[in-house]
Amino acid sequence: MPRHNKILLGLVIGAVLGTVTNLLTDGSEKTQRFVALVTEPIGKMWLSSLIMVVIPLIVSTLSVGVAALGSLKRLGRIGLVTLASFLLLTTLSTAFGLFVMNTVRPGQGLDRSLTERLMQTYASETKTAMGFAKDSKFGISVLVDIIPRNPIKAAANGEMLAVIFFALMLGIGIAIVSKEAGNPLLDVMESLGHVTVAIIDLVMAVAPIGVFCLIFSVTSRFGLSLLVSLLKYVVTIVLSLAVFQFVAYPVILKFVSGLSPFDFFKRIRVVMITAFSTSSSNATLPTTMKTSEEELGIHKEIGGFVLPLGATMNMNGTALFEGATVLFLAQVFGFNLDLPTQLIVVIMSVITAIGVAGVPGGSIPLLMMVLGMVGVPVEGIGIILGVDRILDMCRTVLNVTGDLVTATIVNRVELRLGAGTKGT
Ligand code: ASP
Repeated sequence: MPRHNKILLGLVIGAVLGTVTNLLTDGSEKTQRFVALVTEPIGKMWLSSLIMVVIPLIVSTLSVGVAALGSLKRLGRIGLVTLASFLLLTTLSTAFGLFVMNTVRPGQGLDRSLTERLMQTYASETKTAMGFAKDSKFGISVLVDIIPRNPIKAAANGEMLAVIFFALMLGIGIAIVSKEAGNPLLDVMESLGHVTVAIIDLVMAVAPIGVFCLIFSVTSRFGLSLLVSLLKYVVTIVLSLAVFQFVAYPVILKFVSGLSPFDFFKRIRVVMITAFSTSSSNATLPTTMKTSEEELGIHKEIGGFVLPLGATMNMNGTALFEGATVLFLAQVFGFNLDLPTQLIVVIMSVITAIGVAGVPGGSIPLLMMVLGMVGVPVEGIGIILGVDRILDMCRTVLNVTGDLVTATIVNRVELRLGAGTKGT
C-alpha cells in the first residue's frame, strides 16, 4: 500500500476509534490514563521528530536556494511576489471570514448561561493565554527582531523569522564571495539538506502511527457535548475554511497555473493530513517542502525560499479564524461592530497572523490582542477555547495549502518572467 494511503488510514482509524472511545467511556479515568501514557507520548515524539529537522532544513535549503538564485535582483523579485501573494491571500481569507460571520451571525442569541459557564470553566486557561498575550511581540518589534543578534540563540528559541533572515544572508554571502571561498560551505549546506531530507523520509515512514496517536488523543478526550453547544460557530468557521480551501484556492490556481484542483489536492494530500493531525505549520514544513518539489515540480530554490517564510508569515486560515472569532464574540456580547471597526479587525487579523507561531494554538494570544483592540472582552476567549483544537486542525490545513499556492504562483511567475535571467 502506498505510504500516503497508510497515513490516511491512520487518520481515519484514529478519528473513528477516538470518537467511539469518547462516546463509550465519556472521558473516563482509564481513557485519560491510556491517552496520557500511550498515544499522547508517541504522538508527541513523532511531532518532535518533525520539528527537530525544521531548523537544519530551513538553514540548508534557504542558503543553498538563495545562492543558486544567483542575483539579488532575482531574489528581490521573488521576495516581492511572495509577500504580495501572502498579503493578498490573507486579506481575502479574512474578509471572507468576516463576510460569512456577518451573514450567519452564530453569536447572536447564544445562551447566556452557557457562555458564562464556559468562561468560568476555562478561566485558568484564559489567564495563561493572557500572560502569553502580554509577552507576544507585535508590530514594529516583530520587524526589528527579524534581525537576530545571535543566530544560534534565535534558533534555540525557535524564532523562525530570525533564522530565515540569517539563512538568507548566508546564501547571499555564498553568492557574493569567490567560488573557492564559497563552495566548501555550499557543499556542507547541500549535504546537510540531503541528510535532512533522508531523516524526514525516516520520520514519515512512521507517520501512520504518529498521525493515529495524535488524532486518537484529541478525539478520545474532546468535549463532544461542547462541540454540540457551539455547533453553529464551529460549523460556520469550518465551512468558511473549507470554501476557501476547496473553492478559492482552486480558482486562483486555475487562473495562475492551469492546474486542475483535483490533481492539486491529490498531490498535496499528505501535506493536508500532516497539517490536520499536527495542528502545526512548523511541524508540517518538512513535508510541505518535499511535496512542493517532488509532487508539484516547484523549483527547489523557490520552494526553499517561499515555504519556510510561508510557514511563519502566511497564515490564511489563522487570519480567517481570528477575524471571524472577534466578530462572533462581539455578537455574543451584543456589540455591534460598525464597518470601520470591522475594517480594523481585518487589518489587525492580517498583521497579527504574521506574528503567530506555527504551533498548536499559536494564534490564541494574538487573537486576544485583537479582541482588546476593538473593545470586545478578552475573557470571552474562554467560550471558544474548548473547541479550539478542532478549529486549529482545520485552519492549519489552510495555512500550509496557502503556502503551496503561493509557491506555485511564484514558480509560475518566475518561469514566465525569470526564464533566462538566472545568474544575471
Ligand atoms: N496552529 C496554527 C499553525 O501552526 C497556528 C494557529 O492558528 O494557532 O499554523
